[in-house]
Amino acid sequence: MRIFDPHIHMTSRTTDDYERMAAAGVRALVEPAFWLGQPRTNVGSFTDYFDSLVGWEPFRAAQFGIRHHCTIALNPKEANDPRCREVLDVLPRYLNKDGVVAVGEIGYDSMTADEDSAFAAQLALAVEFELPALVHTPHRDKIRGTRRSLDVVRESGIEPGRVVIDHLNEVTIGLVKDSGCWMGFSIYPDTKMSPSRMVALLQEYGPARVLVNSAADWGRSDPLLTLRTGEAMLAAGFGDDDVDRVLWRNPVEFYGQSKRLEPEAAPTGEATFEGNSILRGGS
Ligand SMILES: [Zn+2]
Repeated sequence: MRIFDPHIHMTSRTTDDYERMAAAGVRALVEPAFWLGQPRTNVGSFTDYFDSLVGWEPFRAAQFGIRHHCTIALNPKEANDPRCREVLDVLPRYLNKDGVVAVGEIGYDSMTADEDSAFAAQLALAVEFELPALVHTPHRDKIRGTRRSLDVVRESGIEPGRVVIDHLNEVTIGLVKDSGCWMGFSIYPDTKMSPSRMVALLQEYGPARVLVNSAADWGRSDPLLTLRTGEAMLAAGFGDDDVDRVLWRNPVEFYGQSKRLEPEAAPTGEATFEGNSILRGGS
């Protein structure tokens, strides 16, 4: 099984996770920019983090033959902090970079006016830089948050096929399917979606425009839940081709719209990272 995890926060994972993912068949991934637990107080914290998403993490992933890409944005939670708003001004510098395959995560956390304006401004950047957009839906008040997100996407003029609405479940999938946007699902060990619930949705709605991710962030999460979902699909009677479509070809098609995707893994150990002396053995 070849796996492309389209939404996983490797910054919060250990190197052991990269090793387990590679052994499980994960060959490529997208790491969206998000929050870091501790609130950031200035733009410099963001630029150091963005530099790590386009520099250090791809290097770390390449040690295990995994191709690393990222998305860049001011996340919805921190869009509410006036100290972080200037991040919007530095985004264009990053949206031009090779490994950046979308604008994201954008969208709503608490659905405030500040989140509204950051969301709309960043969809405009996606249009300007001809990149897809990754939209996070709030964990509270999900139906209203999803409806409002779809309204903002519509008003922005971005083509719906270039947008993924993420963290969906049984109550929001129908809204997004009708919109023409892609449907993202985060599979968690004990909250939100599970592999068996995901299989039930695939049986009802089919595999078109569906992205399955492990999200794997600061909360309790498991970077192998993409593999577990593939296994659950096979056990439920789906064929290898359906599994390959959901876990590989769909993310390649969606993020391929950036024209910057390199889904084939680099040979292990080929990458270098300027200034690094740890993983190269102290040279
Ligand atoms: Zn996320």
